[in-house]
Amino acid sequence: MEIIDAPSPNFDQRPAGRAPDMLILHYTGMPTGEEALARMRDSAAKVSAHYMVGEDGKVWRLVDEAARAWHAGVAYWQGETDINGCSIGIELVNPGHECGYRPFPDAQIEALIALIEGIRTRHPIPDRRILGHSDVAPGRKQDPGELFPWQRLAEAGIGLWPERLDDAVSSDDPTALQKDLAVLGYGLEVTGSLDAATGEVVTAFQRHWRQARIDGRADPQTRAVLKAVLKAAQSDGSSARNSSLV
Ligand SMILES: [Zn+2]
Repeated sequence: MEIIDAPSPNFDQRPAGRAPDMLILHYTGMPTGEEALARMRDSAAKVSAHYMVGEDGKVWRLVDEAARAWHAGVAYWQGETDINGCSIGIELVNPGHECGYRPFPDAQIEALIALIEGIRTRHPIPDRRILGHSDVAPGRKQDPGELFPWQRLAEAGIGLWPERLDDAVSSDDPTALQKDLAVLGYGLEVTGSLDAATGEVVTAFQRHWRQARIDGRADPQTRAVLKAVLKAAQSDGSSARNSSLV
């Protein structure tokens, strides 16, 4: 695929010996792609990503995959706090929740899928580590948001998706819910009570895996989807599968 080079000065080195094994998807959250690109190339802004994908499917490369781009900020997943250090960041042009959030066009998603397929030939990134910014920074970030077609990516072999829902999930024990979310990877303390932080993480989970209703309430369907996603995460052999192809 054609990639347009648009180097950004906003990067530094990954921790020694650290190859990327995580992918973080964002939206730009600005009125136009041009403004987002200019901001990510402005040294005063101190933000960047490795790639930006336009709504028409154009792809720009801002930071080399070997370097650490500055896209995640304060973030956490499965014990990891240096998310920039271990990830590749991709920005999708979309005005976002504050500037007119809208669906991601087919051309953009097709280009994204091709871009990710290319990245995965270079770095064996497991499905369970393909995440939204809101997954690694719940409460602080909403992107790429509930209009992002995670299911379509999963159909293309990218990311975790629940296979079959078990409708026997009826427990409303907050401790079990918090443990399940933490095992999946979210940064959440197991307090045994449905506190504000739990609501934020449930909201982030819904934006990714239960997009029909985003309300931060762990209703039976949300819990059933969570169980199914956990099951998919535990059987995720995508890393080994991909590396055997290379
Ligand atoms: Zn973001």
